Amino acid sequence: MKFGGTSMAGIERIRSVAARVKREVEAGNQVAVVVSAMAGETDRLVGFCREASALYDPREYDVVVSAGEQVTSGLLAIALQAIGVPARSWLGWQLPIHTDEAFAKARIGTIDTAALDASLSAGEVAVIPGFQGVAEGGRITTLGRGGSDTSAVAVAAAMGAERCDIYTDVDGVYTTDPRIVPRARKLHQVTYEEMLELASVGAKVLQTRSVGLAMKEGVRVQVLSSFTGPDAPMADTLPGTMIVGEEEIEAVERQVITGIAHDKNEAKITLTRVPDKPGAVAAIFAPLADANINVDMIIQNIAHQAGQAGPGSTDVTFTVPGADLARSIDALNGAQGEIGFAELVHDTRVAKISVVGVGMRSHAGVASQMFTTLGQRGINIQAISTSEIKVSVLIHEDETELAVRVLHTAYGLDAEAA
Ligand code: ADP
Ligand code: ASP
Ligand code: MG
Repeated sequence: MKFGGTSMAGIERIRSVAARVKREVEAGNQVAVVVSAMAGETDRLVGFCREASALYDPREYDVVVSAGEQVTSGLLAIALQAIGVPARSWLGWQLPIHTDEAFAKARIGTIDTAALDASLSAGEVAVIPGFQGVAEGGRITTLGRGGSDTSAVAVAAAMGAERCDIYTDVDGVYTTDPRIVPRARKLHQVTYEEMLELASVGAKVLQTRSVGLAMKEGVRVQVLSSFTGPDAPMADTLPGTMIVGEEEIEAVERQVITGIAHDKNEAKITLTRVPDKPGAVAAIFAPLADANINVDMIIQNIAHQAGQAGPGSTDVTFTVPGADLARSIDALNGAQGEIGFAELVHDTRVAKISVVGVGMRSHAGVASQMFTTLGQRGINIQAISTSEIKVSVLIHEDETELAVRVLHTAYGLDAEAA
């Protein structure tokens, strides 16, 4: 069982989480619980680091920001003991959960489960703070924002758990963020692949890495609500959304488009008058790769024909994570000589809207419908990218909600009016 930040926000909620864990124990299950920090706490701790120094040491950042989960794991163990459920907390370094040394975005390697197994066999509930691990040499690491989902899936995989139930503040995965589109529909099932795409293009209900790990390790994952009373159906009746293999999807659930996601955290960069010659694009992306910056969407326009004025040139537009914009500009300006662009223009007021569905493999016209729908609403498309099961477009940030709503309707995803 994994409980997110809103589910752990305050003692009252922690008590209700404890009661829910107790129900599972009384039903005869052995339970390991992974917890997030209280909602808002990790942001507060990140803020302290930034305030202390803009150029903080990521190793010390991890010591600070992992603290929120230490608090909630101890509190949940106390709340469980108080209602007669034997429980203890296991910090990342105590199990341990081994990670690499990529501080602030570490990857889990192996998890020692001997102590956990012994504790569960002795009838205890194990409470594990999410988001944290330990690198070789003993320093604390964190897994990147939203990383408790990944902790939970990794623990489930290591222990060979029957299922990993991710409890959150919505009762499942929806066709789009239900906080933006009230007519979003809850999905009973979604494939690993689609969930992976949806998460990676902005559906923050699960951290992308947690889905990738679940897919690789074959962990059964359910997303469900922690905000239900004591008579809520048991998790075993699968009241939430199950993440499943494509072969398991029931035919009635099949739609061409499964979900729509948005992401306002990208920034757009355009380099003008890049020489139109072999190697030119490589010269742009090599310095970004060296700076460990992920480029997402890319478009290249033949803007200026070769002629008497000299060789032809093109404008190249691409997106990078908003958080990496300053470093990207720095890297590109540093390489201006080699790239040979005239001007660098950037814009953070953009949003990426993505439609995802395995049905796209066998249906033509998905992209065309997207472009037509947006065009009819006067929404301008600035860049496009696609994969086998996804089409993404970049638009002005102010049009995000409108775009998601009209696409949701156009692909027939709206729930029946209540
Ligand atoms: P937790 O603190 O439990 O980890 P998160 O805030 O990380 O919770 O994730 C849950 C939120 O994800 C929901 O409140 C919802 O607004 C958002 N969300 C975005 N896209 C979707 C979607 N397709 N289905 C459900 N929730 C979504
Ligand atoms: N508390 C961490 C965060 O806010 C990890 C998590 O909640 O998943 O990113
Ligand atoms: Mg989360």
